[in-house]
Amino acid sequence: MKIICVGRNYTEHIEELNNEKPKQPLLFIKPESSILNKEGNFLIPDFSNEIHHEVEIFLRICKKGKDIKEKEAHCFYDAVGLGIDFTARDIQSLCKEKGWSWEIAKGFDGATVISELVPSHTFQDIEDVSFALKKNNEIVQLGNTKKMLWKFDELITYISKYFTLNEGDLIFTGTPAGVSKVISGDELIGELEGKEFFKVKVI
Ligand code: ZN
Repeated sequence: MKIICVGRNYTEHIEELNNEKPKQPLLFIKPESSILNKEGNFLIPDFSNEIHHEVEIFLRICKKGKDIKEKEAHCFYDAVGLGIDFTARDIQSLCKEKGWSWEIAKGFDGATVISELVPSHTFQDIEDVSFALKKNNEIVQLGNTKKMLWKFDELITYISKYFTLNEGDLIFTGTPAGVSKVISGDELIGELEGKEFFKVKVI
C-alpha cells in the first residue's frame, strides 16, 4: 500500500509557513514503513532538531481506480481516519532551499500516525467534519474539511491521473494551521468531531 499526502490544502497553514498558494494540489508519498507502532510511542529521530506535528484527516481507498471522474470519486473511499504527518521541518527547509525532494523529512520511520477508521457514510456531511490536535491537553490545531482548498473528490480525481489507487491506499488530505515543534514528554491527542481517535507519546 502507499500513503499519498497532499501539501498546502488549508490556506492558513500555507500562510504560516510563507508558502505560495499552489495552482494544483501538491503531492508526495510516504512509505508504508513510516507508520508508527500501535503503542503510539514516537521517538524523535537523532537527525532532526525540529519535528513538527501536522494533524490530518485521511481517506482509505476501497477499490482500484485510475483516471477517476470527480462525480464517481466518492465510491473509491469507504472510510476516514485521523492521523499525523510528522515532518522534520529543519530537513524539509534545507531540501526546499536546495531544490531537493522532501522524502527524508516526511517518510522516516514513525512519521505517519494512523487512527482507527470510521465508515465515511457515518458522517452527515463529509465536507463539514471538524478535527483537532491537543498537545499536553491544549488545542494547538483546529480544522474543518469545509476549509480545504481541494475537496476529497477533487483530490481523488487529481491523484488518480498520476497514480493508480489500490484498495488499502491512504490519502492524507493536508493540515490546518497551528503546526509546532514536539519535544520529548509531549502527549498528542487527535480528535475527530470531538471524539478521541489517537494518543501519541513523544519520547
Ligand atoms: Zn502534511
